[in-house]
Amino acid sequence: MRFEFRPAPMRFPSSAGLEPEALASAWGDWTWQMRRSLTHRSDFEAYFELSPSERRGFELSGFQVRCTPYYAALASETAAGDEFDPLRLILMPRAEESAEQVTQEQWDPLGERRNLKTPRLVHRYPDRVLFLVTDFCSVYCRYCTRKHFTGGELAFAREPEYREALEYIRAQTGIREVILSGGDPLTLSDAILDRVLSDLRKIEHVEIIRLGTRMPVVCPMRVTEDLVRMLKRHKPVYVMTHFNHPRELTQEAAVALEKFVDHGHPVFNQMVLLNGVNNDARIVQALSRRLLYLRVKPYYMFQCDPSRGTDHLRTSVEDSLRVQRELWGRLSGLALPQLSLDIPDGGGKAGLVPQFEIQCEGDEQQGTRRTYVGWDGVESVYISPPRSRWRAPLDASAYEEEWRSLRHAQSRDAQHSEG
Ligand SMILES: *Cc1c(COP(=O)(O)O)cnc(C)c1O
Ligand code: SF4
Repeated sequence: MRFEFRPAPMRFPSSAGLEPEALASAWGDWTWQMRRSLTHRSDFEAYFELSPSERRGFELSGFQVRCTPYYAALASETAAGDEFDPLRLILMPRAEESAEQVTQEQWDPLGERRNLKTPRLVHRYPDRVLFLVTDFCSVYCRYCTRKHFTGGELAFAREPEYREALEYIRAQTGIREVILSGGDPLTLSDAILDRVLSDLRKIEHVEIIRLGTRMPVVCPMRVTEDLVRMLKRHKPVYVMTHFNHPRELTQEAAVALEKFVDHGHPVFNQMVLLNGVNNDARIVQALSRRLLYLRVKPYYMFQCDPSRGTDHLRTSVEDSLRVQRELWGRLSGLALPQLSLDIPDGGGKAGLVPQFEIQCEGDEQQGTRRTYVGWDGVESVYISPPRSRWRAPLDASAYEEEWRSLRHAQSRDAQHSEG
């Protein structure tokens, strides 16, 4: 039996002043959603009864506010007056964003600016780069970690910056993976994306292309047949979505996700743990189950970065670990996201794993005796043998060579069968 998604064809308040006839055709058109996005306080007042804190947020926030009609309708559907609605906390500015007393706040918590190799390229790990193709998003999440870049109205990279990024990727032969990010690459047109992907595919050492996007959440109509077919010509393309709450998985979002998967694009989800939004294992469990059913692998569950104006949204590390521990064992391993924290100032990601080992005796020369307590309290000992002298036979360069020729043969065959 099919998973029951709430039927959710068209939800919008009459106060939004949208004409029903026009809407019937326009609502499902992603360019209309972009053109009619809410950007001013008065646009939001048509959907929500703003609270004093939110009104202050509009006056004080140093970070752009924007939302698609689709996502605004979804966030306002439960109660137009509930300022603590989980989706509303994601999209609406609040007075707390400008709080004076904060624990830690940085404009660029990941230290990305120091790892910018060109104005649009972050290269932090040896084999993969972030290509910031646009700084535009269709919804500006209040907890965004990249406030130093997003929402600056720079849009698609200008020609010299674009060329510079491509040149860098071409020159660095260790790069295997290019992550299109921003901003949101799916706010770009199919034609521009097609060009970016074609240019990347001309670079032989680029094997994997990832597309980091929140559009399936905030504008699922963006995922058209044309888009997924175009992406298929550049396969393998991995799609990284960003669902934070089970309510975001509407019928429309489910259709969008299935389109990606049915056309052979693996989809992974990265979520951020946020106070009042999803800092409860049952919420994450509900989200993860829906995702897994739709063949989307829950990948990362991020500890929120200390980006400016996010103190009220950041969970304590203890709270995050509690959620992760509760999920462990109770949720299919396929549906379990990895809790991860970005070490400030560009330290990279650190996995946060609940403590299961409670004791370790001995050393590696003699072997160790390790005591564990499992997710539901079973305690037992694992006796680790000493380190062996047998090493896996290593001939890395031969494997590289073999892999290169396999890939060539495979892409030749693929071109042949398509041509
Ligand atoms: C998170 C991140 C990546 C991707 O890391 P994965 O663990 O492979 O998902 C790449 N580059 C930067 C700078 C990152 O912050
Ligand atoms: S979609 Fe991503 S980049 Fe854009 S505002 Fe949200 S978190 Fe930031």
